Amino acid sequence: VEFIATGSELLIGRSLNTHVRRLAEALVPLGLQVARETTLPDDRSAIAAELRAALVRSQVVLVSGGLGPTCDDVTREAAADALGCALVEDAATLDRLRVRYLASGHELTPGRRRQALVLEGAAVLVNRVGSAPGQRADLEGGRVLFLLPGPPAEFQAMLEDHVTPWLRRHAGGLAPIVHVWMVCGLVEGEIIERLKEVGFDPGPLELAYCASPGQLEVRLTAPPDHKAGMARAADLVRAALGEHAYSETREDLAAVVGRMLQHRGMTVAVAESCTGGLIGQKITSVPGSSAWFRGGVVAYANDLKTRLLEVPGELLAAHGAVSEPVARAMAEGARRRLDADFGISTTGVAGPDGGTPDKPVGLVWWAVADREGSRALSRRFFGDRATIREWAAQMALDALRRRLIR
Ligand code: ATP
Repeated sequence: VEFIATGSELLIGRSLNTHVRRLAEALVPLGLQVARETTLPDDRSAIAAELRAALVRSQVVLVSGGLGPTCDDVTREAAADALGCALVEDAATLDRLRVRYLASGHELTPGRRRQALVLEGAAVLVNRVGSAPGQRADLEGGRVLFLLPGPPAEFQAMLEDHVTPWLRRHAGGLAPIVHVWMVCGLVEGEIIERLKEVGFDPGPLELAYCASPGQLEVRLTAPPDHKAGMARAADLVRAALGEHAYSETREDLAAVVGRMLQHRGMTVAVAESCTGGLIGQKITSVPGSSAWFRGGVVAYANDLKTRLLEVPGELLAAHGAVSEPVARAMAEGARRRLDADFGISTTGVAGPDGGTPDKPVGLVWWAVADREGSRALSRRFFGDRATIREWAAQMALDALRRRLIR
């Protein structure tokens, strides 16, 4: 499957090419992959040339964009050039366009009428979201060309309504078996070591890692006929990851923590310094979090740490804000002041400035407090400000998760 995105705006930094991601997401469950992706400006001859080459290389070629009414929409003409066929006006599409434009008080100008032009012999793919339809041309040798509109909502609708069903019919039975684990607290190298220890041998299975700040996705993929092998391998991966894996469904860490709290009928409150509300944002993004989230305090200034979270001034003076005692006092204070079963906190140097030799940029302390007391952990994270903050928020949530499985 090959994809050609057209649109000069994609090449001047105005729009991000998100279609390739949507397409890839639709293909993977079918056992297919984007073999090649090209982005081209609105240039009829460049699109035609690329199409000719693509149709030699690939069985299925999809083109997006350039099907609208304006003069820079040249994909129809470029495709006709590449295939050496004519464009013909589709009567049903013309009717649809007329009704659509009249209903919104617009005229069917000649430019707008161009949207009814289809490649001779092509199937018209109804666009339930916008005006220009998609097209599918079935070519010699079982090759197929899809022309799809560019606006993201229309492209997505086309994938769902026409492309995926067609591919499922014609490339069915290839869907791989996929298993994922979301992991916090282990890096790739450590996972590889642990897999060795449990005797994991991938054989025909594929093991892949995708890391982002504070989380790592481990993905095991097996060919469709390897169900038993997959089950055995998944057991080994599960054993190797142990309590470091927090989800096997790509569920959010905050949602996992929330489920655990709700199950126990317990609540959490947060005290955030370097994460500035990021933990609260993650928690409140989870629907129904009001059942287990009490609230949070963003205490950036030291005097607010004291006034709102009861962090003793002497502690701040003696150890500084980024320290174990202060992280613990913040978590304890949040728990107490906000009437929760647990308190979690973060305090760190998010950078890019403000680092010192003993408290460098990236150093973060986080803590979890419960009725019996508190425990803090620290690590130095590397990356920009956003990365460090993301790590800190994930680690604090993960610390609570680990406390809950204890
Ligand atoms: P229209 O009828 O709007 O002209 P069209 O089929 O001609 O539709 P384009 O004009 O190429 O499509 O793009 C329409 C909009 O969709 C633009 O705002 C563009 O930024 C966006 N778009 C196009 N291609 C992509 C892409 N690959 N990824 C994300 N957005 C895209």
